Amino acid sequence: MAGEPQPDCLFCKIVAGEIPATVVRETERTVAFRDISPKAPTHVLVIPKVHYPNAAALAVAEPRIAAELLAEAGEVAADEKIVESGYRLIFNNGAGAGQTIFHAHVHVLGGKPMNENMV
Ligand code: 5GP
Ligand code: ZN
Repeated sequence: MAGEPQPDCLFCKIVAGEIPATVVRETERTVAFRDISPKAPTHVLVIPKVHYPNAAALAVAEPRIAAELLAEAGEVAADEKIVESGYRLIFNNGAGAGQTIFHAHVHVLGGKPMNENMV
């Protein structure tokens, strides 16, 4: 069924607590945790608990959760105190764009000048 956990998906395993992560925020529908290989002083991933292969697919199937993902990204930025200095939200879509984990996620990056492609 659409949105169901996928057995080979790393982020589904993080949602299930089968793989540890440094969780910074959680709601009923989303989890935010630190990227294992940070590209900036703040590098947090916000994911839906349901499995969709990318953010566009999530938005089509579950628009309210897609909106919550963005709201949570903003809350992460506020918690990390990078709203004023500025932060970047990145959605990689497809391997050719650098997507390596095919479970929807948004990167929240900040804490240094953001003037280059980063992830
Ligand atoms: P993508 O390249 O698919 O947009 O982003 C996937 C991100 O997941 C990468 O930035 C990568 O560093 C991060 N990542 C990969 N494996 C793990 C993991 O086991 N734990 C955490 N916290 N992040 C991971
Ligand atoms: Zn998944």
